Amino acid sequence: MARLPFFGGDTGRRIAEADSVAVIGLGRFGSSLALELMAAGTEVLGIDVDEDLVQALNGRLTQVVRADSTNEEALRQLAVDEFDRVVVAIGGEISASILTCSVLLGMGIPVIWAKVADDRHGLILEQLGVHHVIYPEKEMGRRVAHLVRGAALDYIEVDPGYALVKASAPVMLVGKRLGDTGLRVAYDVTVAAFKRADGEWRNADADTVLHTGDTILVVGPTASAESFAQLR
Ligand code: ATP
Repeated sequence: MARLPFFGGDTGRRIAEADSVAVIGLGRFGSSLALELMAAGTEVLGIDVDEDLVQALNGRLTQVVRADSTNEEALRQLAVDEFDRVVVAIGGEISASILTCSVLLGMGIPVIWAKVADDRHGLILEQLGVHHVIYPEKEMGRRVAHLVRGAALDYIEVDPGYALVKASAPVMLVGKRLGDTGLRVAYDVTVAAFKRADGEWRNADADTVLHTGDTILVVGPTASAESFAQLR
């Protein structure tokens, strides 16, 4: 394959040496991930076959290149094989996602993250050996279900069966040392942090005394953390 006209592997190598990630597929998911990485100070090499998407992100990522990621030679020319972390954000075109992951695994990329469209797609990538398979629609749907059904202000299931829930401090905790509330025994949860109405998040400990209007982060088994978030 001819060398790409506006991008040399040297640039890719320079990016790969920094705190950097290659993001392949710059649709809604890939572009938002890439821009968030840039905002957090991580250098990003973005790759997509779609020229319009590449143009739209030009200047907003460290480097954006039009290439077909199923083509190993093209990826090597971009020095993708020198990256420690690569994200494959191709959900809809399952064959392109599988081929791309297979090429990256063959190159020995240490950590590959891949977004999938459904369970079947996810299973194939897991069987291939992709290190982190993400199911954005499924995970977001489950998360929103917990928000819709309860009083939680936010909810993250850290692992199946264990959750972190953001909630308003229930009246029964207000004005007492957390260490004197018997919370862990009675509810099987821990208050990990709290925020005053006009303040910042602070770690909670046994001496923390919550005020009316505080927001808390509760961790514990999912059912316990969720029921606790319902308390008023
Ligand atoms: P979104 O993130 O928008 O939900 P999606 O999950 O529907 O995307 P696709 O639209 O299939 O996934 O792919 C995401 C991006 O990946 C698209 O911008 C597409 O051009 C790009 N893409 C697909 N195949 C390849 C390929 N072989 N090489 C590089 N980029 C590709």
